[in-house]
Amino acid sequence: MNILTFDVEEWFHLLDFDATRTEAEWSRYEVRIYENVDRILSILDETNTKATFFIIGWVAKMYPDIVKRISSKYQIGSHTMNHQLVWQQTPEEFRKDTDNSIKLLQDITGQPIECFRAPGYSIRESEAWAFDILADLGIKYDCSVFPAHHAHGGMPSYPCKGPAIIKTSHGNIRELPITTKTLFGKPIIFSGGGYFRLFPYSLIKSWSKDCDDYLLSYIHPRDLDGAQPMLKGLPLARKFKSYVGTKGAANKLRKYLRDFEFTDIQTGVTQIDWSKVPTVEF
Ligand SMILES: [Zn+2]
Repeated sequence: MNILTFDVEEWFHLLDFDATRTEAEWSRYEVRIYENVDRILSILDETNTKATFFIIGWVAKMYPDIVKRISSKYQIGSHTMNHQLVWQQTPEEFRKDTDNSIKLLQDITGQPIECFRAPGYSIRESEAWAFDILADLGIKYDCSVFPAHHAHGGMPSYPCKGPAIIKTSHGNIRELPITTKTLFGKPIIFSGGGYFRLFPYSLIKSWSKDCDDYLLSYIHPRDLDGAQPMLKGLPLARKFKSYVGTKGAANKLRKYLRDFEFTDIQTGVTQIDWSKVPTVEF
């Protein structure tokens, strides 16, 4: 079963980069979210594919019409209000930021917001308190776990590569981790983001075929934007990682969605036998 998700953020919402760290900087940059979301919606239409969209509250606040457009056909989740790493926040800050985003998205869409993804997979084991807060805020499905070490977070102690139930003081959360593959000893995400853009489609296709039980993919609007400006001052390695393959990625995604059947979270979770998945307790 293959689940497709998008993290709806602007082309400049890169993590760990001072020039784009907070809302104060964001208004300086060109608006590209309209054409980038349009591109995604056309690809989904052409391939008749469902997907879940994790939206930053800031995008919803600035451009509520985009959120309305997406939510008229697709499931919406929260990607926090201000796109900050969880381990850089106190539990109180995280609660407030996430709560604000959920309320705003619910107001705009009329949908209950039950899905969440933290920026940069930044819930580590030391931030497991975040799951208690998420459950308390009504989140039922979380996609924040990268089940290995990761630059912005990661959770190597997560017990499996697929879904699990996370027990919290406010009830269970059903976890849908991102799919990873170990390449030269390093766990990577290949079904979205930089490595999806970098690797030839034949490899993405063959690695995806190996995941016949469970594959969760994520794409950013900027991943498919071959005309975006380059942010000034990015280190060379970061430049490469952030921009490689953006020109061909829309066509690659089109091919991917024709070759594999993807669905959204609300459909995907009905195909999982939750009585057979591991339970995680922190
Ligand atoms: Zn993000």
